[in-house]
Amino acid sequence: MKKTKVVCSIGPSSSSTEVLREMILKGMDVARFDLGRLANSFCHDVIQKIHELEKELHKTIGIMFDNRGPEVRVGTISNGKVFLKAKSEIILTNESVVGTEEKITVLYPNLLKDIKVGDILLFNSGKVKVKIKEKNTVTLKGMVEEEGLIYSHETVHIPKLSNSLDYLNERNKEDILFAIQENIDFLALSFVRNKNDVLEVTDLLIENNNDYIQLITKIENEYCLDDLDQIIELSDGIMIARGDLGVELPIEKLPGIQKKVIAKVHQANKIGLVSTEMLASMEEEKRPTRAEVSDVYNAVMDLADAVSLGSETSVGTYPVEAVFTMTNIITQAEEEMDYERILKEIRSTENQDVPSSIAHAVVDICNHIDIKAIIAATNSGYTAKKISRYRPCCPVIATSPNKDTVRSLTLHYGVIPVLSKTYKTTDEIIEHCGSIAKEMLTLEKKDHFIITGGFPASLQNTNFMRIEEVI
Ligand code: PGA
Ligand code: MN
Repeated sequence: MKKTKVVCSIGPSSSSTEVLREMILKGMDVARFDLGRLANSFCHDVIQKIHELEKELHKTIGIMFDNRGPEVRVGTISNGKVFLKAKSEIILTNESVVGTEEKITVLYPNLLKDIKVGDILLFNSGKVKVKIKEKNTVTLKGMVEEEGLIYSHETVHIPKLSNSLDYLNERNKEDILFAIQENIDFLALSFVRNKNDVLEVTDLLIENNNDYIQLITKIENEYCLDDLDQIIELSDGIMIARGDLGVELPIEKLPGIQKKVIAKVHQANKIGLVSTEMLASMEEEKRPTRAEVSDVYNAVMDLADAVSLGSETSVGTYPVEAVFTMTNIITQAEEEMDYERILKEIRSTENQDVPSSIAHAVVDICNHIDIKAIIAATNSGYTAKKISRYRPCCPVIATSPNKDTVRSLTLHYGVIPVLSKTYKTTDEIIEHCGSIAKEMLTLEKKDHFIITGGFPASLQNTNFMRIEEVI
């Protein structure tokens, strides 16, 4: 049973109940919806299908929306795309024009204020490069330094631009209200520049009485790396969004940044995700490349909680095969992980409270005795998260009477969240958690599992563990 979570972007390739069912069966844990590309009605319909499948398959699937943030985009282009030739001149305006090879709209209200002569604009994921040569009161004139196709509505990258826009524009705010309405679990924040951007979203959620949605900040530019510690502190998780990050920064810097950020996120007890092009070739092929297999394997070894599939599952030809391939690579990596070394390293760097000491003891026992599962009866999810952080070698079934807690645990390494009743006695916890374990896992006579919990419930903290044997 794999423990690292799989996040899948949803799109036309993965919107039918049949494909979604197979993706869940093959290992999808969280479904991600890109609000910049998908219509609200599409997201709503797919979420309903996922909720039906959760009941059918007895599995909780997290729902993540992706908020676009202060993105700069190209306007409409005649026939959807245009080829810009090297050394040709191009006019950039924020007035609405139908784009041609001579003039295009760049949808950025502060275009003339923020962009200077000498700045570089990158189109088509960095393939096309335009350098600004002149500026007047209404337009910018640039010269094409590297040629290629540019597309209607695509993202424009302006490295080193200290974008003066508010983080949330009207469209972003509407998207977040829609997220609240759909009762989603995770909101991914694109193009965050500093901690104030995260706070702007937190404020909007609080204004709308939402203290539930977890914020996953995407690392997509150099600025947010400068403010990383504070951003991690204010976020519930961090996504290394290698697509845009690899345009904003020299691409060879990505692996080092990925390793450094994932380590920091894990250290801070937050959720770490790696995304983009993990199995890119599977958008068109049934098998991944060797390099892609290594990429997924290494992300697991680096202690990412989750790995993501983007266009592979949203628009690719083989969404189900991509999920299955990812699950197989994860399973292999997890078989080879040095759990004892990892636990030792984490332990040496942190202070211990009672629940974390119990969590630590439990994971340590699993490294020395053949334990089939840990069942953590938890209210807030705190102990389950601690156990997950110590990277147990067996799955952690987290039972909670709180539906929000259950849904919020879908991204954590190793945690299988299950809704339970409220327990009145320790015996009840042990008995009920035992039957959940037997129901969910194929346990045999003499198999061991561990139960953790807190009693009395008013204590709100884990204070016991017990090793059970199947009789
Ligand atoms: P996106 O984010 O796919 O939503 O742009 C991921 C990335 O940039 O890597
Ligand atoms: Mn991105």
